Amino acid sequence: MGPGPSDTHPHVLAALGAPTVGHLDPFFLQVMSETQVMLRQVFRTQNELTLAVSGTGTAGMETSLVNLIETGDKVIVCVKGVFGGRMADMAKRMGADVTVLERPFGEVFSSAEVAEAVKRVQPKVVAIVHAETSTGALQPLEEISKIVHDAGALLVVDAVTSLGGVPVEVDAWGLDAVYSGTQKCLSCPPGLSPVTFGPRAVAALDKRKTKVSSWYFDLSLVRNYWGQDRAYHHTAPINMNYALHEGLRLLLEEGLEARHARHLRNHIALKAGLQAMGLKYAVAADCQLPQLNAVLIPAGVDDMKVRRQLLTEFGIEIGGGLGPMKGKTWRIGLMGETAYPRNVLLLLGALERCLTANGVACPPGAGVAAANAKLA
Ligand SMILES: *Cc1c(COP(=O)(O)O)cnc(C)c1O
Repeated sequence: MGPGPSDTHPHVLAALGAPTVGHLDPFFLQVMSETQVMLRQVFRTQNELTLAVSGTGTAGMETSLVNLIETGDKVIVCVKGVFGGRMADMAKRMGADVTVLERPFGEVFSSAEVAEAVKRVQPKVVAIVHAETSTGALQPLEEISKIVHDAGALLVVDAVTSLGGVPVEVDAWGLDAVYSGTQKCLSCPPGLSPVTFGPRAVAALDKRKTKVSSWYFDLSLVRNYWGQDRAYHHTAPINMNYALHEGLRLLLEEGLEARHARHLRNHIALKAGLQAMGLKYAVAADCQLPQLNAVLIPAGVDDMKVRRQLLTEFGIEIGGGLGPMKGKTWRIGLMGETAYPRNVLLLLGALERCLTANGVACPPGAGVAAANAKLA
C-alpha cells in the first residue's frame, strides 16, 4: 500500500513464468500487437505510435522528452513535486532552454498561470505530471491542453500513476505525448513504460533537424520494431511483456470505468476511516488522488517506527514523504490490485494499533467503522 509497486494479480505473475520465446517469434509479435491494441483502449486513443518502452516509468519520461527536444528548444516544465522536478532535470540535460514553473508540493497549477507562462515563453513543449505521486495531487489537464495547443506547443504528460486509476483521455483532451508505468495502477511488476505519441508529436519527431540524442529511446528506430517492419532494435523484455499483456487483459475485463469507480470507492472508504482516526489529508479536497492518499503524520509520532511496525507486524508497506514532505506525510497507495476493501480495513485496524502504541489517542474502532459505513 505504498506509492508502487502495487500488488500484482496471480495471473500476471503466472504470465511472467511462461516460456521465453524469441523477440521476433510470431507468438511474441502477436503479444506485441495485442498489447498495442489494449494500450490504445486504456489510453483512450487512436494513436498509431503506442507501445511499451523497455524500462520503468522513468524510461517513458526520457522517451517522451528526448524525442521532442532538440538543443536550444524552449520547454516549460511544471513542477509541483518530485516527478515534475525529474522532468525539468532531464530536459536541461537534453540541452533544452528550460523554464520551470513551480507550485508548492501538494498544490496543482491553474490554467491561468500556465497560460501566462506559455504566452511569455512561446515554448515548443510544455511538460506536466497528471498524478503527482510524491504529493498525492491530481492535476486537471483539459484546459491546459487547449492553452498549450492554441500557442502551437506540444503537451507532454506524465500518467505513470494516473493510468488505470483515474481517467486519462489522451484523444479527448488532445494530449500529445503521454507515458505511464506498469507497477502503479496497471498492477504489473516494474519494467515497462507504456507510451503514446499523437499526430502532432509524431510530426515534430519527423521534422527534427538532429538525431534523437538517445539511441535506445529513439522512437524513429523503436517504432520500426513495434510497427510493420519488425526490425530488430533491442531484445524486448519478453516475459515482462507477457505480464503487461495479461495485466491489460484483466483491466479491460473489469472495464476502465468500473476500475476507476473501484479506486474511488475504496479511496472514499479509506479517507473516511483515516479522518475518523483524526488524520488529516495533506492535499486540498478538490485535487486528492484516489490511488495515492497523502496524510499528515500526527505531531510527536515517529514516522519510521510506525512504518516499520506496519511492515513487520502486518506485512503492510506504506510510503514516507518525499522532498519537503519527508517526515511530514505518509503516502498510502490504493493502486490497481491493492484497491480493495480487504486492504483498506486491514490497514485502518493495523494503523490504529500502531498509532496507539506511539501514544496517539485513536477512538477505538472508529476508522474501521467509518470505512465500513462508506463501503456499505
Ligand atoms: C513512479 C513514477 C515515476 C517513475 O517511474 P519509475 O517506474 O520509478 O521509473 C514517474 N512519474 C510518476 C508520477 C511516478 O509516480
